[in-house]
Amino acid sequence: MTTEFSNDNLEILHSVEEIERRVRELGEEITRDYAGKDLVVVGVLKGSVIFLADLIRQIDLKLSIDFMAVSSYKDGTVSSGDVEILKDLTNPIRGKDVIICEDIVDTGLTLFRLMEILGSRGANSIKIATLLDKPEPRIKKELKIDYCGFQIPNKFVVGYGLDAAGRYRNLPFIGIVKNPEIA
Ligand code: 5GP
Repeated sequence: MTTEFSNDNLEILHSVEEIERRVRELGEEITRDYAGKDLVVVGVLKGSVIFLADLIRQIDLKLSIDFMAVSSYKDGTVSSGDVEILKDLTNPIRGKDVIICEDIVDTGLTLFRLMEILGSRGANSIKIATLLDKPEPRIKKELKIDYCGFQIPNKFVVGYGLDAAGRYRNLPFIGIVKNPEIA
């Protein structure tokens, strides 16, 4: 029987162990970089929730979390164009040191717009942490990724928070969908 976890249509790209090791490294790096700062980790819903949950437990500092939801990709694999805020932050970020926590950077459009939006709110600093980064040419070259889990090939991936039409977020590993038509 093929289950969600052992699925013929998936090829494992990064295993549970690889993800665990890399997230621990990122957490240690952030712990060093943000000592003494007023850190807020902002998760971009929904894809970043698993990464954020694991990452913040590897950051040995006082911090708070908040969430935003934006529409970028609809229920498919093709970019919808512009970015719309569906849910805004609960608390102000004025004077805070913000890390935007994202699941994956593809064209960079989502994060570029988020940087513009949050950049006007008086934060002390804003940096980007993404679990995955695709090699696509960035929409704007000035988008700087400060913390990146893995550079991945230009394939559609799922798992560890990332979905295909709402499915696969619960996979503990990151997989490539072999045939998106039957995802
Ligand atoms: P960007 O604005 O950088 O082009 O796209 C970022 C968003 O597109 C991500 O937050 C994610 O929701 C979606 N996305 C881009 N590539 C993939 C992918 O390979 N798999 C999944 N599940 N979502 C992706």
